[in-house]
Amino acid sequence: MIASADKQSVKPLHVADHVIQPGTQAVIELPITKLATGSTVSLPVIIVHGAHPGKRLFLTAAVHGDEVNGIAIIQRSLAKVNPTRLCGSILAVPVANVLGFLQETRYLPDRRDLNRSFPGSSSGPLGARLAHLLLQHVIAQCDYGIDLHSGSDHRTNLPHIRADLNDGPTKRLARTFGAPVILHAPKRAGSLREAAVTRGVRTLVYEAGEAHRWSANDIDVGMRGILNIMRASKMLPQKHSAVRSSPYIATTSRWIRASRGGLVTMHARLGDILSEGQSLATIADAFGTGKRIVRANQRGIVIGLSVNPVVHKGDALIHVAWKKR
Ligand SMILES: [Zn+2]
Repeated sequence: MIASADKQSVKPLHVADHVIQPGTQAVIELPITKLATGSTVSLPVIIVHGAHPGKRLFLTAAVHGDEVNGIAIIQRSLAKVNPTRLCGSILAVPVANVLGFLQETRYLPDRRDLNRSFPGSSSGPLGARLAHLLLQHVIAQCDYGIDLHSGSDHRTNLPHIRADLNDGPTKRLARTFGAPVILHAPKRAGSLREAAVTRGVRTLVYEAGEAHRWSANDIDVGMRGILNIMRASKMLPQKHSAVRSSPYIATTSRWIRASRGGLVTMHARLGDILSEGQSLATIADAFGTGKRIVRANQRGIVIGLSVNPVVHKGDALIHVAWKKR
Protein backbone atom coordinates (compact mmCIF):
# COMPACT_ATOMS: atom_id res chain seq x y z
CA MET A 1 0.00 0.00 0.00
CA ILE A 2 1.20 3.50 -0.78
CA ALA A 3 0.45 6.11 1.85
CA SER A 4 -1.43 9.16 0.59
CA ALA A 5 1.14 11.36 2.35
CA ASP A 6 3.67 10.21 -0.31
CA LYS A 7 2.07 12.54 -2.82
CA GLN A 8 3.21 15.61 -0.93
CA SER A 9 6.77 14.27 -0.66
CA VAL A 10 7.31 13.97 -4.44
CA LYS A 11 8.68 17.15 -5.95
CA PRO A 12 8.38 18.21 -9.61
CA LEU A 13 11.14 16.72 -11.79
CA HIS A 14 13.47 19.15 -13.58
CA VAL A 15 15.09 17.93 -16.82
CA ALA A 16 17.06 20.57 -18.76
CA ASP A 17 14.69 23.57 -18.52
CA HIS A 18 11.52 21.44 -18.39
CA VAL A 19 9.46 20.82 -15.24
CA ILE A 20 7.33 17.65 -14.96
CA GLN A 21 4.74 17.41 -12.21
CA PRO A 22 4.34 14.22 -10.10
CA GLY A 23 1.78 11.77 -11.49
CA THR A 24 2.16 12.97 -15.08
CA GLN A 25 3.87 11.93 -18.33
CA ALA A 26 5.46 14.33 -20.81
CA VAL A 27 7.57 14.29 -23.98
CA ILE A 28 10.32 16.90 -23.97
CA GLU A 29 12.74 17.78 -26.75
CA LEU A 30 16.42 18.49 -26.12
CA PRO A 31 17.87 20.45 -29.08
CA ILE A 32 20.85 18.67 -30.76
CA THR A 33 21.72 20.70 -33.84
CA LYS A 34 20.40 22.61 -36.83
CA LEU A 35 20.25 20.92 -40.23
CA ALA A 36 21.54 22.60 -43.39
CA THR A 37 17.87 23.41 -44.14
CA GLY A 38 17.61 25.41 -40.94
CA SER A 39 15.35 22.89 -39.16
CA THR A 40 16.23 22.02 -35.59
CA VAL A 41 16.90 18.36 -34.75
CA SER A 42 16.16 17.44 -31.15
CA LEU A 43 16.37 14.42 -28.89
CA PRO A 44 12.89 13.39 -27.70
CA VAL A 45 12.72 12.12 -24.11
CA ILE A 46 9.59 10.56 -22.61
CA ILE A 47 9.37 11.31 -18.91
CA VAL A 48 7.01 9.44 -16.64
CA HIS A 49 7.18 11.11 -13.24
CA GLY A 50 5.40 8.92 -10.70
CA ALA A 51 3.06 10.29 -8.07
CA HIS A 52 4.95 8.33 -5.39
CA PRO A 53 8.62 8.30 -4.35
CA GLY A 54 10.94 5.64 -5.76
CA LYS A 55 13.90 4.89 -8.03
CA ARG A 56 14.68 6.64 -11.27
CA LEU A 57 15.18 4.40 -14.32
CA PHE A 58 16.56 5.30 -17.76
CA LEU A 59 15.73 3.37 -20.92
CA THR A 60 17.59 4.02 -24.17
CA ALA A 61 17.06 2.52 -27.63
CA ALA A 62 18.46 3.03 -31.14
CA VAL A 63 21.84 4.28 -29.90
CA HIS A 64 22.70 2.44 -33.10
CA GLY A 65 20.17 4.04 -35.46
CA ASP A 66 19.13 0.86 -37.29
CA GLU A 67 18.41 -1.22 -34.15
CA VAL A 68 14.66 -0.73 -33.83
CA ASN A 69 13.53 -3.56 -31.49
CA GLY A 70 14.28 -1.36 -28.48
CA ILE A 71 11.91 1.35 -29.73
CA ALA A 72 9.00 -1.10 -29.58
CA ILE A 73 10.19 -2.39 -26.19
CA ILE A 74 10.04 1.14 -24.76
CA GLN A 75 6.61 1.79 -26.30
CA ARG A 76 5.18 -1.43 -24.90
CA SER A 77 6.78 -1.06 -21.46
CA LEU A 78 5.53 2.50 -20.99
CA ALA A 79 2.02 1.46 -22.07
CA LYS A 80 1.94 -0.68 -18.91
CA VAL A 81 2.83 2.21 -16.59
CA ASN A 82 0.31 4.60 -15.04
CA PRO A 83 2.10 7.72 -13.71
CA THR A 84 -0.47 8.18 -10.93
CA ARG A 85 0.45 4.74 -9.55
CA LEU A 86 4.18 4.71 -10.37
CA CYS A 87 6.76 4.88 -7.55
CA GLY A 88 9.73 6.80 -8.96
CA SER A 89 10.33 8.01 -12.50
CA ILE A 90 11.26 6.72 -15.96
CA LEU A 91 13.36 8.73 -18.42
CA ALA A 92 13.03 6.97 -21.78
CA VAL A 93 14.81 7.82 -25.04
CA PRO A 94 13.28 5.62 -27.77
CA VAL A 95 15.54 7.02 -30.52
CA ALA A 96 18.91 8.10 -29.13
CA ASN A 97 20.74 8.34 -32.47
CA VAL A 98 18.11 10.49 -34.16
CA LEU A 99 20.15 11.21 -37.32
CA GLY A 100 21.26 7.58 -37.78
CA PHE A 101 17.67 6.40 -37.29
CA LEU A 102 16.35 8.77 -39.98
CA GLN A 103 18.99 7.44 -42.40
CA GLU A 104 18.36 3.82 -41.26
CA THR A 105 22.01 3.40 -40.40
CA ARG A 106 23.98 2.31 -37.34
CA TYR A 107 26.22 5.35 -37.29
CA LEU A 108 26.03 9.13 -37.20
CA PRO A 109 26.25 11.10 -40.46
CA ASP A 110 30.03 11.47 -40.03
CA ARG A 111 30.36 7.63 -39.66
CA ARG A 112 31.07 7.91 -35.95
CA ASP A 113 29.56 5.38 -33.55
CA LEU A 114 27.45 7.07 -30.84
CA ASN A 115 28.20 4.10 -28.57
CA ARG A 116 31.92 4.96 -28.74
CA SER A 117 31.37 8.70 -28.24
CA PHE A 118 30.64 8.76 -24.48
CA PRO A 119 31.05 10.64 -22.21
CA GLY A 120 31.22 13.22 -24.99
CA SER A 121 31.62 16.96 -24.67
CA SER A 122 29.72 20.15 -25.40
CA SER A 123 32.23 21.20 -28.06
CA GLY A 124 33.37 18.03 -29.91
CA PRO A 125 31.95 16.34 -33.03
CA LEU A 126 28.19 15.79 -33.28
CA GLY A 127 28.39 12.31 -31.68
CA ALA A 128 30.28 13.68 -28.69
CA ARG A 129 27.73 16.50 -28.28
CA LEU A 130 24.80 14.08 -28.50
CA ALA A 131 26.46 11.70 -26.01
CA HIS A 132 27.07 14.61 -23.63
CA LEU A 133 23.44 15.76 -23.91
CA LEU A 134 22.10 12.27 -23.24
CA LEU A 135 24.49 11.61 -20.36
CA GLN A 136 24.02 14.96 -18.65
CA HIS A 137 20.24 15.34 -18.87
CA VAL A 138 19.03 11.73 -18.82
CA ILE A 139 21.46 9.00 -17.75
CA ALA A 140 23.30 10.83 -14.95
CA GLN A 141 19.93 11.81 -13.41
CA CYS A 142 18.98 8.15 -12.87
CA ASP A 143 19.70 5.37 -10.36
CA TYR A 144 19.99 2.63 -12.99
CA GLY A 145 19.12 1.89 -16.57
CA ILE A 146 18.81 -0.43 -19.53
CA ASP A 147 20.30 0.22 -22.98
CA LEU A 148 18.49 -1.75 -25.71
CA HIS A 149 20.38 -3.14 -28.73
CA SER A 150 20.18 -5.69 -31.59
CA GLY A 151 22.72 -7.54 -33.73
CA SER A 152 24.56 -5.53 -36.41
CA ASP A 153 25.82 -6.25 -39.92
CA HIS A 154 23.37 -9.04 -40.87
CA ARG A 155 23.67 -10.81 -37.54
CA THR A 156 20.91 -11.81 -35.14
CA ASN A 157 21.15 -12.20 -31.37
CA LEU A 158 19.45 -14.49 -28.89
CA PRO A 159 17.78 -12.27 -26.27
CA HIS A 160 20.46 -11.79 -23.61
CA ILE A 161 21.76 -9.34 -21.03
CA ARG A 162 25.33 -8.02 -21.07
CA ALA A 163 26.55 -6.55 -17.82
CA ASP A 164 29.39 -6.37 -15.34
CA LEU A 165 28.73 -9.53 -13.32
CA ASN A 166 31.61 -8.74 -10.95
CA ASP A 167 29.29 -6.15 -9.37
CA GLY A 168 26.78 -7.93 -7.10
CA PRO A 169 23.82 -5.51 -7.45
CA THR A 170 24.29 -5.41 -11.26
CA LYS A 171 24.30 -9.22 -11.35
CA ARG A 172 21.05 -9.27 -9.34
CA LEU A 173 19.48 -6.79 -11.78
CA ALA A 174 20.62 -8.96 -14.69
CA ARG A 175 19.03 -12.06 -13.13
CA THR A 176 15.83 -10.17 -12.33
CA PHE A 177 15.44 -9.14 -15.98
CA GLY A 178 14.76 -12.80 -16.84
CA ALA A 179 16.47 -13.14 -20.27
CA PRO A 180 17.56 -16.69 -21.15
CA VAL A 181 21.29 -15.79 -21.14
CA ILE A 182 23.42 -13.38 -19.10
CA LEU A 183 26.89 -12.61 -20.44
CA HIS A 184 29.60 -10.95 -18.37
CA ALA A 185 30.80 -8.04 -20.48
CA PRO A 186 33.78 -5.89 -19.45
CA LYS A 187 33.15 -2.18 -19.91
CA ARG A 188 33.98 -0.90 -23.38
CA ALA A 189 35.69 2.48 -23.71
CA GLY A 190 33.39 5.18 -25.05
CA SER A 191 30.19 3.20 -24.57
CA LEU A 192 27.02 4.48 -22.96
CA ARG A 193 27.27 1.70 -20.35
CA GLU A 194 30.83 2.63 -19.37
CA ALA A 195 29.92 6.31 -18.99
CA ALA A 196 26.82 5.45 -16.95
CA VAL A 197 28.60 3.00 -14.65
CA THR A 198 31.48 5.45 -14.12
CA ARG A 199 28.84 7.87 -12.77
CA GLY A 200 27.43 5.25 -10.41
CA VAL A 201 24.41 4.43 -12.62
CA ARG A 202 24.17 0.62 -12.82
CA THR A 203 23.41 -0.35 -16.40
CA LEU A 204 22.36 -3.45 -18.30
CA VAL A 205 22.61 -3.87 -22.07
CA TYR A 206 19.81 -5.94 -23.58
CA GLU A 207 20.73 -7.51 -26.93
CA ALA A 208 18.07 -9.20 -29.07
CA GLY A 209 17.25 -9.82 -32.71
CA GLU A 210 18.74 -8.00 -35.67
CA ALA A 211 18.96 -4.47 -37.04
CA HIS A 212 16.20 -3.24 -39.40
CA ARG A 213 13.75 -5.86 -38.05
CA TRP A 214 11.09 -6.07 -35.39
CA SER A 215 10.97 -9.43 -33.65
CA ALA A 216 7.81 -10.06 -31.60
CA ASN A 217 9.48 -12.54 -29.23
CA ASP A 218 12.54 -10.34 -28.61
CA ILE A 219 10.31 -7.33 -27.96
CA ASP A 220 8.20 -9.38 -25.56
CA VAL A 221 11.23 -10.66 -23.59
CA GLY A 222 12.57 -7.08 -23.40
CA MET A 223 9.29 -5.61 -22.18
CA ARG A 224 8.85 -8.33 -19.54
CA GLY A 225 12.43 -7.80 -18.40
CA ILE A 226 11.92 -4.08 -17.84
CA LEU A 227 8.67 -4.70 -15.94
CA ASN A 228 10.40 -7.42 -13.84
CA ILE A 229 13.12 -4.96 -12.84
CA MET A 230 10.59 -2.22 -12.05
CA ARG A 231 8.58 -4.62 -9.87
CA ALA A 232 11.68 -5.92 -8.06
CA SER A 233 12.80 -2.36 -7.29
CA LYS A 234 9.27 -1.47 -6.08
CA MET A 235 8.53 1.03 -8.86
CA LEU A 236 5.51 -1.14 -9.72
CA PRO A 237 3.50 -3.45 -7.43
CA GLN A 238 5.03 -6.93 -7.05
CA LYS A 239 3.38 -9.80 -8.91
CA HIS A 240 2.90 -12.74 -6.57
CA SER A 241 2.88 -15.23 -9.44
CA ALA A 242 6.28 -14.15 -10.78
CA VAL A 243 8.08 -17.17 -12.26
CA ARG A 244 11.79 -17.41 -11.52
CA SER A 245 13.88 -18.44 -14.50
CA SER A 246 17.38 -19.90 -14.37
CA PRO A 247 19.45 -18.22 -17.05
CA TYR A 248 22.59 -19.57 -18.71
CA ILE A 249 25.31 -17.41 -17.14
CA ALA A 250 28.33 -16.99 -19.40
CA THR A 251 31.60 -15.34 -18.51
CA THR A 252 33.03 -14.98 -22.01
CA SER A 253 32.16 -15.35 -25.69
CA ARG A 254 33.80 -15.71 -29.09
CA TRP A 255 32.75 -15.68 -32.73
CA ILE A 256 33.48 -18.78 -34.82
CA ARG A 257 34.65 -17.51 -38.20
CA ALA A 258 34.36 -18.74 -41.79
CA SER A 259 37.25 -21.01 -42.78
CA ARG A 260 36.72 -20.12 -46.46
CA GLY A 261 34.68 -17.72 -48.58
CA GLY A 262 31.43 -18.97 -50.09
CA LEU A 263 27.78 -19.54 -49.28
CA VAL A 264 26.77 -20.70 -45.81
CA THR A 265 24.10 -23.21 -44.89
CA MET A 266 23.62 -22.69 -41.16
CA HIS A 267 22.77 -25.75 -39.05
CA ALA A 268 23.11 -24.04 -35.67
CA ARG A 269 20.16 -22.16 -34.16
CA LEU A 270 20.07 -19.42 -31.54
CA GLY A 271 20.00 -20.95 -28.06
CA ASP A 272 21.57 -24.27 -29.14
CA ILE A 273 23.71 -25.82 -26.42
CA LEU A 274 26.85 -27.00 -28.22
CA SER A 275 29.07 -29.96 -27.67
CA GLU A 276 32.67 -29.96 -28.88
CA GLY A 277 33.03 -30.96 -32.54
CA GLN A 278 29.34 -30.45 -33.35
CA SER A 279 28.59 -29.45 -36.95
CA LEU A 280 27.37 -25.83 -37.02
CA ALA A 281 27.36 -24.82 -40.69
CA THR A 282 28.46 -25.86 -44.16
CA ILE A 283 30.27 -23.47 -46.52
CA ALA A 284 30.54 -24.20 -50.24
CA ASP A 285 31.25 -22.17 -53.35
CA ALA A 286 28.56 -20.81 -55.66
CA PHE A 287 28.46 -24.17 -57.52
CA GLY A 288 27.93 -26.19 -54.33
CA THR A 289 31.45 -27.65 -54.48
CA GLY A 290 34.43 -27.44 -52.13
CA LYS A 291 32.24 -28.04 -49.08
CA ARG A 292 33.69 -27.36 -45.67
CA ILE A 293 32.00 -28.10 -42.35
CA VAL A 294 32.27 -25.51 -39.57
CA ARG A 295 32.44 -27.23 -36.18
CA ALA A 296 32.17 -26.13 -32.56
CA ASN A 297 35.63 -26.04 -31.01
CA GLN A 298 34.21 -26.11 -27.50
CA ARG A 299 31.01 -26.33 -25.44
CA GLY A 300 28.75 -23.30 -25.05
CA ILE A 301 25.48 -21.68 -26.09
CA VAL A 302 24.78 -19.95 -29.42
CA ILE A 303 23.93 -16.28 -28.72
CA GLY A 304 24.46 -14.83 -32.20
CA LEU A 305 24.30 -15.93 -35.83
CA SER A 306 25.10 -14.43 -39.21
CA VAL A 307 21.99 -14.32 -41.40
CA ASN A 308 23.84 -13.36 -44.60
CA PRO A 309 24.61 -16.51 -46.63
CA VAL A 310 27.50 -14.87 -48.52
CA VAL A 311 30.76 -14.83 -46.56
CA HIS A 312 34.44 -14.13 -46.98
CA LYS A 313 37.12 -16.11 -45.19
CA GLY A 314 37.32 -14.85 -41.60
CA ASP A 315 33.78 -13.45 -41.43
CA ALA A 316 31.95 -13.95 -38.12
CA LEU A 317 29.42 -16.81 -38.35
CA ILE A 318 28.37 -18.12 -34.96
CA HIS A 319 28.70 -16.31 -31.62
CA VAL A 320 29.24 -18.78 -28.77
CA ALA A 321 29.15 -17.89 -25.06
CA TRP A 322 30.30 -20.12 -22.23
CA LYS A 323 31.37 -20.17 -18.60
CA LYS A 324 35.14 -20.30 -18.08
CA ARG A 325 36.13 -23.00 -15.64
ZN1 LIG B 1 23.79 -1.76 -30.93
